[in-house]
Amino acid sequence: MSVEDAAADERPDEGSWRDVVESISTGVLVWDLRGRIRMANPEAGRLLGCEPLDLVGQDVRDFVPETFHTDTTEAHLALAVTRETFGVAEELVVSRPDGTSLHVDVRLSLLHGDDEPLVVASATDARTRVATEQARLDAGRRTILDSVPISILTTDADGVVVSANAAAGTLLGVEADELIDLDLADLHDPDELAAAGLDVPQARPEGDDAPTFAVLRTLADLEPGARREWSYVRPDGTRVPVAEFITPMGGGDAPTGYLFAAYDNSQRVEASAEAERLARHDQLTGLPTRAFLVSVVDDILLRRPSAPLALLVLDVDHFKTVNDTLGHHVGDAVLRSVSERIREGAGPGAVTARIGGDAFATVVDVLDEPDAMSRARVIQERVAMTDIESDDLDLVGVSIGVALAGRDGADATELLKRADTAMYQAKVAGRNTIKVFVPSMDADREKLQLASGLRRAINESEVTVSYQPLVDLRTGNVAAFEALARWTSPRFGVVSPGRFIPLAEDHGLISDLGEKVLRTACAEVAELCRRLDRPVGLSVNVSPQQFRDRDLPGLVRQIAEQTGFDPTMLELEITENILVSDPMEVVDVMRAVRSLGVKIVIDDFGTGFSSLGYLTRLPIDKIKIDRSFVTKMDDNERDASIVESIILLAHTLGMAVVAEGIETPGQEQHLRGLGCDQGQGFLYSAAVPIAAASVLV
Ligand code: C2E
Ligand code: CA
Ligand code: CA
Repeated sequence: MSVEDAAADERPDEGSWRDVVESISTGVLVWDLRGRIRMANPEAGRLLGCEPLDLVGQDVRDFVPETFHTDTTEAHLALAVTRETFGVAEELVVSRPDGTSLHVDVRLSLLHGDDEPLVVASATDARTRVATEQARLDAGRRTILDSVPISILTTDADGVVVSANAAAGTLLGVEADELIDLDLADLHDPDELAAAGLDVPQARPEGDDAPTFAVLRTLADLEPGARREWSYVRPDGTRVPVAEFITPMGGGDAPTGYLFAAYDNSQRVEASAEAERLARHDQLTGLPTRAFLVSVVDDILLRRPSAPLALLVLDVDHFKTVNDTLGHHVGDAVLRSVSERIREGAGPGAVTARIGGDAFATVVDVLDEPDAMSRARVIQERVAMTDIESDDLDLVGVSIGVALAGRDGADATELLKRADTAMYQAKVAGRNTIKVFVPSMDADREKLQLASGLRRAINESEVTVSYQPLVDLRTGNVAAFEALARWTSPRFGVVSPGRFIPLAEDHGLISDLGEKVLRTACAEVAELCRRLDRPVGLSVNVSPQQFRDRDLPGLVRQIAEQTGFDPTMLELEITENILVSDPMEVVDVMRAVRSLGVKIVIDDFGTGFSSLGYLTRLPIDKIKIDRSFVTKMDDNERDASIVESIILLAHTLGMAVVAEGIETPGQEQHLRGLGCDQGQGFLYSAAVPIAAASVLV
């Protein structure tokens, strides 16, 4: 047997090919380039609605709608012939002899026959594919439905649940499947349904049966998709507030069913609980709270942005003292009475709230700023009429800050802040005063905040003391430490003394601060002396106010006794400008302090404007040459000679000399050469906490 014969044996004969083509479930149709059908299998016949044999000889274009003739058939023919494209599937509508049409998917290929090329079309019923795709799509939609956080229930026309998504199950506390076949009306609160039923008489066709699905159906038909707030009753009997939307399905006059979309509305209900909270009143005075006032004012401003109104913040003067000394019952009585007076003074139409312990706010209609001032004055006079059954209580005063609305779109919160700032200014200006907010106060606001922060800081442990050594220039030993105040605020961070010392002076806090530094420094250095078992000098800065405010000699004696610090090792640093105010009084205090063995040092010497004449008349032990001279003496002849004459003068008058701000060995050498006694500066050490300072001695 030849090789060719063997190959021919394995080639199926024409008969068996025909059998295959006849039996497959794909329609096979073959036509020539003129469109004449040459062959069709039974499935092709079924698709085209003809006996396969009848198809042979017909024009393939007769089975394709007219409109597709050029677009589709010829295009496909041409495509198939010229580009020999295989496997291009297209959906095609075929028209059958009986007038019906069918969607088929057609795949064309070119067959090179013996004499001429033929087009082979394999066709399948597109409906099979579409159905499969629809199923896939449905599955997809189903997942989407299940993933929306909105409960979706569909019912038939009688309200029996047909489908439920996952969120419906979650909302109602069961598996979604368990909701199928339930009566949707049973998932509603019967009382609420009954109440709704009264509004829709159409819902109660006849008799007074318990309200049923008819109510829901009627609501849906009357207002499809309308939002309604009520409750679902879960199968376990608990209730959940919902917002529900009912939409009829199926269209037409008689819906085939209803779709119920709903979501958990308890958030909203909580929001209205919040609204209630806003309206809540202060127990003691019966006045509304700050939150209420803010929402009222914001409301007014929203409706009338340029409404001419004024917000007043009123703070009772010295209330803390009243409370502390006369007791809380008197304090409470004062607050009750003051709130009543404010309300009377503000007049009808005003809204008054209690915004803090002893702070109130009221919003009044005003014409302009003078009008606002006179309204505030009326309130103040009213408050002054407060009388409490207590002999120890003098006139009650309030400090009032006023902020006018309507100029720059400030909201209630901002207005309240402004009025508060103005109120604080009124306090600073001496209580029972009225101040209208002006923008420049804003610049002061931070200072005010800083000042009130400092007030607290002095009492807490935020203010500490650091120590900078004073070195004996002859021996190089540390002779003493200067105590320097440090403030680390949790709110403002590290605040430099250059900032908070003037602030403390401006706000009457320097005496408290100075006392705190003096006490702390004496205690810490006394402890250091005990550990070293030898005396260490201490220098403390004293502000002019401390000379006036306090019994300074008494304070020094007391602190020395309490801490065990030897007063003869203490120096107080004062500046020349202390002498500007009342020299004689100051001199008396200086003498008294000196009688304890404490030394007086003139700080920043050379920067003051007073004549040097005082040096001969005052009890001064030491002068401290200002840093500015020391810095410049290296390269400036004139400054160097000023330093030289200061040292000479001081020594002539029996005073010691210390130079501050020494940063270089050159400066140190120069000063030592001029006979300066002590030096202080970064060359030796910056100011450090006591633990680090103790290592330096
Ligand atoms: P002061 O009394 O003249 O204190 C010396 C200041 O110079 C300190 O600044 C110190 O850290 C700084 N200083 C020291 N050596 C050098 C140096 O070599 N170079 C430079 N550039 N600066 C040096 P500080 O601690 O910031 O204090 C500033 C001012 O605050 C003090 O000036 C003093 O007037 C005031 N102050 C600080 N603590 C108190 C206090 O407890 N009471 C009062 N009344 N004032 C205080
Ligand atoms: Ca000083
Ligand atoms: Ca100084």
